[in-house]
Amino acid sequence: MEKLTTASGIPYVNHEDTQSAGARGPLLLQDFILHEKLAHFNRERIPERIVHAKGSAAYGTFTVTSDITSYSKAKLFGEIGKQTRVLLRFSTVGGEKGSADTERDPRGFAVKFYTEDGNWDLVGNNTPVFFIKDPKKFPDFIHTQKRDPFTNCKSATMVWDFFSLNPESLHQVLFLMSDRGTPYGFRYMHGFGSHTYTLINKENEIVYVKFHFKSVQGIRNFTSAEAKLMRGEDPDFAQRDLLNAIEDGNFPKWTLKIQVMTPEQAAAYSFNPFDLTTVWSQNEYPLIEVGELELNQNPDNYFSEVEQAAFAPSRIVDGIGHSPDKMLQGRILAYPDAQRYRLGVNFEQLPVNRCPFIVNNYQRDGLMRVDDNGKRSPNYFPNSFDNIKPDAAYARPAEQVHQPVADWFDRNAEGENDHYTQPGIFYRNVLSQEDKSRLVSNIAESMRQIEGPLKEEIINRQLCHFFRAEFSLGMAVMNELGIDPGDMTRHMPSKK
Ligand code: NDP
Repeated sequence: MEKLTTASGIPYVNHEDTQSAGARGPLLLQDFILHEKLAHFNRERIPERIVHAKGSAAYGTFTVTSDITSYSKAKLFGEIGKQTRVLLRFSTVGGEKGSADTERDPRGFAVKFYTEDGNWDLVGNNTPVFFIKDPKKFPDFIHTQKRDPFTNCKSATMVWDFFSLNPESLHQVLFLMSDRGTPYGFRYMHGFGSHTYTLINKENEIVYVKFHFKSVQGIRNFTSAEAKLMRGEDPDFAQRDLLNAIEDGNFPKWTLKIQVMTPEQAAAYSFNPFDLTTVWSQNEYPLIEVGELELNQNPDNYFSEVEQAAFAPSRIVDGIGHSPDKMLQGRILAYPDAQRYRLGVNFEQLPVNRCPFIVNNYQRDGLMRVDDNGKRSPNYFPNSFDNIKPDAAYARPAEQVHQPVADWFDRNAEGENDHYTQPGIFYRNVLSQEDKSRLVSNIAESMRQIEGPLKEEIINRQLCHFFRAEFSLGMAVMNELGIDPGDMTRHMPSKK
């Protein structure tokens, strides 16, 4: 038997009845156990993530299967067979913590690698591109995915108004509206680091890199109708599916692959290789296998290990670097900032976020400091007492990373606003006839919900984008919406 105690370890008996003035009388203020229970309960909720609030996670193992040491000195890639513990969190993006798992939405795909050189977070999605390419647009974009300030309902009008005024969203909109916008849980979808990062080798030479996690299970999606049904039948479908598969020993796996581009190739590439709304063609930059990620352990406690898990693209380890990708640069700021708000300044000491290897610095104190706070050791640098020194072996060749592209950015700024070529390729060359008709039907289903006096203007503006990407796509959506070409008022995109 284990004794029931208060939070301070005081054993007590009356867990279900409160002290009162006589058996039928009012309660006594002195029953501190009642206060403790109610007060703690009142404080159980922490701020939910502003995006990616609904999610599921599992621990696993990353195993190196191919040698990429010529590209990166990161210790986790050090030798074939090397294993690193990981935590992988999947999520939807726009819904609240209690929303349904099968909503049409991108899915977050965030991996924390617990490496001996510190925790590396690769925080991406199940799509290689995103709706916007500048982080200043992010709050506006997300507002359109959340609730209307007046009706408190989701609004297709806000969504399509924003999409149609931001044609850079078109590529991701097509992915979102395709079958892959409603994946069958989390196991049957790919993951992408999405951003361009750098790899740095022992000679401090750099290449640019895109990370791809290919589902070994293959791709499986719900149709729009099935997803809608599942929202009612089991809003937690993806959580249950992942949890049960792992409990049954049916461990899901992904193959990690990379695309690599030299700085010279980056400077000459037909698209801005740091633009999150475009991909690198796999024909020109083929996938190179790196390793396998297997999920094999469910967290024991959802709040402690999933809700409190914090992933940030700022956390990169030696041998991996950032790039001038503007969205990445914005996320380097935004993610740890969100975590300090949501979990408090000492969130990296929470067990799920804690680096299991050495952590040495002079950060002290702060709300909810839960480790020994450095005990008696000095809390300033430099000092004459401890032996903690910056290790020159970990110096980052930052100038080297950004220099080769600095000029190129200016020269090619014009070409960065091609919002249509890759979406057109996607529609024409990647989708089958059946994929295309489901895509068109999903788009029309969503656009039919646009309402209000500007309905026609928004629809026409968005149709123009579809036409510009691929004429037959524009025609198909227009037909599906039952719009007569003669009725279509031409509102060309107000932004390039
Ligand atoms: P490829 O033919 O080499 O690649 C096509 C890619 O499209 C494959 O990765 C494939 O993934 C993926 N794909 C297939 N069906 C869908 C779908 N319904 N939704 C989303 N992705 C799908 O050509 P390129 O690399 O030159 O790219 C051509 C176009 O493919 C791009 O413009 C882009 O729109 C799209 N794409 C490109 C990716 C890239 O990183 N280059 C990644 C994903 C899409 P799978 O392995 O499952 O078949």
